[in-house]
Amino acid sequence: MNIFVITKRTFDTEERIFVSNRNISDDGAEYIINPYDEYAIEEAIRVRDELGGEVTVMTVDGEEAEKQLRTALAMGADKAVLINIEDDVEDSDQFTISTIIGEYLKDKEVDLILAGNVAIDGGSGQIGPRVAHILGIPYVTTITKLEITGDKVLLTKDVEGDSEIIETSLPLLVTAQQGLNDPRYPSLPGIMKARKKPLEALELDDLDLDEDDVKAKTETVDIFLPPAKSAGRILEGDIEDQVKELAGLLNKLV
Ligand SMILES: Cc1cc2nc3c(=O)[nH]c(=O)nc-3n(C[C@H](O)[C@H](O)[C@H](O)COP(=O)(O)OP(=O)(O)OC[C@H]3O[C@@H](n4cnc5c(N)ncnc54)[C@H](O)[C@@H]3O)c2cc1C
Repeated sequence: MNIFVITKRTFDTEERIFVSNRNISDDGAEYIINPYDEYAIEEAIRVRDELGGEVTVMTVDGEEAEKQLRTALAMGADKAVLINIEDDVEDSDQFTISTIIGEYLKDKEVDLILAGNVAIDGGSGQIGPRVAHILGIPYVTTITKLEITGDKVLLTKDVEGDSEIIETSLPLLVTAQQGLNDPRYPSLPGIMKARKKPLEALELDDLDLDEDDVKAKTETVDIFLPPAKSAGRILEGDIEDQVKELAGLLNKLV
């Protein structure tokens, strides 16, 4: 089984985000593996442990993303690939990232690709489906269960709280939804082993791509935080007076 996990690093969910000059400032922010990608990595490791094969984790980012790839290796992935676009790409969007991943994977023997359902920062949920489209393979999003028998695959897909059972075949791309599994924490021996596992570093040149081939098709024209909410009011006095006042306030809204 040749299994690939595409993964993105994101701000730690505990971080406060600042916007300056229409950019999200990451000064001093801690990064983590996108939480949905942790389900994808865990599932890939479980499939490999059951059916054999190899798990490769890959990301398109800058060299700082090596840290999150090493964490994935410490969880149990076998190999990592970092496609470093920091110096080559000025404006990136979902077209950029999926074209690069698709170009890398198109000559590989791929049985299964796992991605997160959505990145908790960019949040478009586009990369998985776009990569599957480029490779011409089926995809199923938001899966909560994966069973592989031969090249047949039985999936449970979350549909806003309900479940859909889908049968398809390998090669396949799936995106992971919360509830797929409980991602493991890297163990100390896992962390030690991860230091020696292979991590391949590539640039656009290595994929025979140049900046024009991956030029963003969209432009982010503005980024802003939601307006601060005004403080709520607590009504006081007799309950009858409170009800009257509340009804008056609600009337003003309609
Ligand atoms: C170096 C760099 C520069 C960027 N510059 C800009 C910019 O100039 N302007 C701008 O608007 N945006 C920029 N971005 C953001 C980038 O365009 C988006 O993060 C990207 O298109 C993914 O979209 P998304 O966050 O909506 O992911 P989603 O589609 O929501 O992600 C879904 C899943 O796809 C996979 N995935 C997502 N991103 C990656 C990745 N990079 N590598 C591997 N797998 C991935 C993960 O499994 C993830 O869970 C930049 C990103 C990078 C890494």
